[in-house]
Amino acid sequence: MSATTAASAARRKLVLGNWKMNGSLAANASLLSALRDQLASLGGADFGVTVPFPYLAQVQDALQGSNIAWGAQDVSIHDAGAYTGEVSGAMLADFGSRYVLVGHSERRSLHGETSELVSQKASAAQRAGLIPVVCVGETLQEREAGNTLTVIREQLAPVLLLGAQAVSGMVLAYEPVWAIGTGRTASPEQAQEVHASIREALAGIGAPQVQVLYGGSVKAANAQSLFGMADIDGGLVGGASLDATDFAGIAEAAANA
Ligand code: PEP
Repeated sequence: MSATTAASAARRKLVLGNWKMNGSLAANASLLSALRDQLASLGGADFGVTVPFPYLAQVQDALQGSNIAWGAQDVSIHDAGAYTGEVSGAMLADFGSRYVLVGHSERRSLHGETSELVSQKASAAQRAGLIPVVCVGETLQEREAGNTLTVIREQLAPVLLLGAQAVSGMVLAYEPVWAIGTGRTASPEQAQEVHASIREALAGIGAPQVQVLYGGSVKAANAQSLFGMADIDGGLVGGASLDATDFAGIAEAAANA
């Protein structure tokens, strides 16, 4: 076994669903019950769903004691106080959350979140005992200009400045913006090139074993080839996380990778 393969084998796969702003009490109830059933027998990998804030209590109730963790899609940089509309890490932790997404491309593009702010959100999540899932990704224009690796390194820089100890408690997600919700997936080789560059940056600060997920139109049909790459440690799944059978297919690919 090569050194890279040995290192990748040491990292557990993780598949996280991102429900985005979808769901209702009724729809969630059947999705969660089907997920619980369909993932129950899958060992060897970790699973989770990140849901809209109002549904955290429902998800906690439905997934308690299962092999599926849960969390949210954003967190405030502040711990408490006069920040109307914000939700703190401690509040997410109150509902048993394990993960929180920070810097999803929709937050960056629609809400003007900068990489510095994303880094502050990652710190706030860790102060509350949560695992931040830091998302990075280039636009199609940036890729076509040959700037992918530079953009990813720039987005990561403020997070890596937090140091090896902090970064070791995070998950990273590479999500090319042009592949999110478009049905267009990065090829396993395109994704691996970026993941290897992220891994190199992580190794540079002394945190080489951080899980790096791929996101962008992951489906059961393409999950196996993506998860087979040396530096891809699982997936962040949007659309396909809203269907239990689709998500279970991806989870199975991770469990068998
Ligand atoms: C996402 O929302 O993070 C995502 C990757 O979406 P999709 O799987 O639908 O492309």
